[in-house]
Amino acid sequence: MLLPVLLVAVIALAWSARATSVSEHEAYHDPLTGLANRRALEQRLDHLTATAKLDHRFAVLLMDLDRFKEVNDQLGHHVGDELLGEVGHRLADLSGIEVAARIGGDEFAFLVRGEHDYDDLTDLANRLVGEVSQPYVVGDVRLSIGASIGVARFPDHGLDATHLLRRADAAMYAAKRSGVPVGFAALSERAPVPGRLSLLGELDLAMQRGQLRLDHQPKVAVGTGEVVGVEALLRWHHPEHGIVPPGDFITTVEHTELIAPLTRHVLRTACEDRARWVVAEVELPIAVNISTRDLQDTRFPRDLAELLEDGGLPPEQLTLEITETALQVDPERASRVVAELGELGVRLAIDDFGTGYSSLAVLRHLRVSELKLDRSFVLGMEEDDAGVAVVRSVVQLAHALGLEVVAEGVEQESSLEALRRIGCDTVQGFLLSRPLPPPLVAPWVRARRLEREAALLDAGATAATEPPFEEAAVSAHGDARSLLRRVDRRGKPRLPLTRAG
Ligand code: C2E
Ligand code: MG
Ligand code: MG
Repeated sequence: MLLPVLLVAVIALAWSARATSVSEHEAYHDPLTGLANRRALEQRLDHLTATAKLDHRFAVLLMDLDRFKEVNDQLGHHVGDELLGEVGHRLADLSGIEVAARIGGDEFAFLVRGEHDYDDLTDLANRLVGEVSQPYVVGDVRLSIGASIGVARFPDHGLDATHLLRRADAAMYAAKRSGVPVGFAALSERAPVPGRLSLLGELDLAMQRGQLRLDHQPKVAVGTGEVVGVEALLRWHHPEHGIVPPGDFITTVEHTELIAPLTRHVLRTACEDRARWVVAEVELPIAVNISTRDLQDTRFPRDLAELLEDGGLPPEQLTLEITETALQVDPERASRVVAELGELGVRLAIDDFGTGYSSLAVLRHLRVSELKLDRSFVLGMEEDDAGVAVVRSVVQLAHALGLEVVAEGVEQESSLEALRRIGCDTVQGFLLSRPLPPPLVAPWVRARRLEREAALLDAGATAATEPPFEEAAVSAHGDARSLLRRVDRRGKPRLPLTRAG
């Protein structure tokens, strides 16, 4: 008789223990993704910060998905939920991460223990962004999203969970604003970045240590949707201040002799980056920004010829971007240097066109092939007739002079549509892609080519009975597979820049 009673007691105990552990699990986990929740992460962080000595090190990485809201709004919450579930699945059990948590709608956070330097954390963050950016298939819809990450370290950026998370959050937003996938806490708070002059003192060493690197932003042909090249954009991967954008130091460097070695460093790095994509069977023309002082430097054409030779870069594959103002300082000397550069066979582009005073007629005498319309003309141009008229007349005049026109800073599908109607040749901007770190360029280009082929095949097969587009506009920026997708009624992906039928 005793046995059944005991058995019942044991079963009851086991049941209540299970119920407790189920509710405990629920209390510390996010039901949608199975990852830890905010409470679990904060408790772990608070425990660590309370017991850690100041020589202990750990970091919090806070990740926010790009344009997740559009998925929810345009495809429905059930698709959003499924997508989050898949994101959670990819983020669980990644090596090197102690806690992976979903801490808000589309916000995730990671705890990383140990002494990690800035490069390790950048690599880890890029790996996380890469993981999340692989395409998803939800039902019969293919989606691509991107993500940005902010990093805060203990004890440098905060001594408790609240401060660390807040600083990581601010760094993440700063990264999003600057168009880089990863930002460090110091980046968002300008105070720790020393005066520009003391940054200058570090520049030489930074070049030697490989801290001056390039991100590359794709340029896409409006008519065909083809990737026609990339623009190399400088970033200083500073060990303490995070990724410092060129705007924070280039103008100061331009006033010193240091600009000559810096431009050469950028050209050398551009050749190296491009050579790696060629190995990965992606051969792209590359554009490099040069400054006013380079155009005053009569040794520059000779040095460039040598650099191209050493770097194995065919001259016609390089475009040098020159600002209008650079041509206005000592125009005679500048046009001599420009002529010599043209003779080398490199292409020349006028950058930020419209912000200076040069007339198109003056450009006619220079061997310029491309005009980059400044983004101030592009942003919101479609919203008023005058905006469209200005861009149209620049494009028409440029075409009449045999120049190609690249529109910079294209952020909206509506601007792209307006540019297409006007007949602009090429576009560049966050809508297509943010500037990408070098290892993400070849995968991005390949993914885009596959998309294009699929779209063309699909267009051929169904041209007669084509249903109208339903734009999923699940664009993502900030990383490799960030492609703006169009999805037809059957969920087949389409390319934003390929005209229907
Ligand atoms: P830029 O040559 O006109 O480069 C385009 C800038 O616009 C980049 O900023 C890019 O990240 C940003 N951008 C691209 N698409 C969009 C968009 O859709 N919306 C918005 N709001 N911005 C967009 P970044 O990388 O901060 O570069 C700023 C400037 O610094 C460049 O302007 C260029 O003048 C200069 N620069 C960059 N790299 C170098 C370099 O290696 N050497 C020299 N001398 N100057 C450089
Ligand atoms: Mg440029
Ligand atoms: Mg520009």
